[in-house]
Amino acid sequence: VTFADLGLSNWAVHTCLELGMRRPTPVQRCCIPRILAGDDVLGIAQTGSGKTAAFALPILQRLATEPYGVFSLVLTPTRELACQLAEQFRALGSSLQLRCTLVVGGMDMIGQARALVQRPHIVVATPGRIKTLLCEDPDIAAAFSRAKFLVLDEADRVLDVGFEEELRVILKNLPKSRQTLLFSATMTSDLQALLEISSNRSYFFEA
Ligand code: AMP
Repeated sequence: VTFADLGLSNWAVHTCLELGMRRPTPVQRCCIPRILAGDDVLGIAQTGSGKTAAFALPILQRLATEPYGVFSLVLTPTRELACQLAEQFRALGSSLQLRCTLVVGGMDMIGQARALVQRPHIVVATPGRIKTLLCEDPDIAAAFSRAKFLVLDEADRVLDVGFEEELRVILKNLPKSRQTLLFSATMTSDLQALLEISSNRSYFFEA
């Protein structure tokens, strides 16, 4: 199986090859076609499994055909993980005119607010900081009103840290018609509950 077999466009296949990704990993083989088809996905997969590209590639491919507004909000529990995710999005989207913004605690909030109002394509955020900005500024909330994807990376850790209140506010600010992609190292009862409130047609995959 190649990346092209999974339904990815030539530009995406070329980018993968340039980044040394010759063959899709199991999580990529399962998730990429489902995400391209419009399904919600819950993937149980570890760091190192290639899970970032499993959601970033189909999101970028969809973005390439309908590039308006904030397209995708990607949540992750820590600033370090957020930086890594943004880096992978930028690398995988290097042939698009991708605008990817990082919204995390401990860094310039005014600059982040300014970047959000300009409606970047991909917002990689930690839940606390994005919640604060959504609550503070209606223009920022409006920027997310047509978002197409919500990704929760390391979802079990996001829930462990006790971000339920933040998630509630964030979910309220996203359209119901979006796709929801959850990735977690473990399946937990909290995650099951989150899946029930956040997702409709979900497809479950365990690496
Ligand atoms: P992740 O599981 O998303 O943290 O990815 C782990 C690492 O594997 C990243 O540095 C990717 O660049 C790399 N990677 C992802 N997919 C592939 C692939 N299909 N072939 C080779 N390396 C990959």
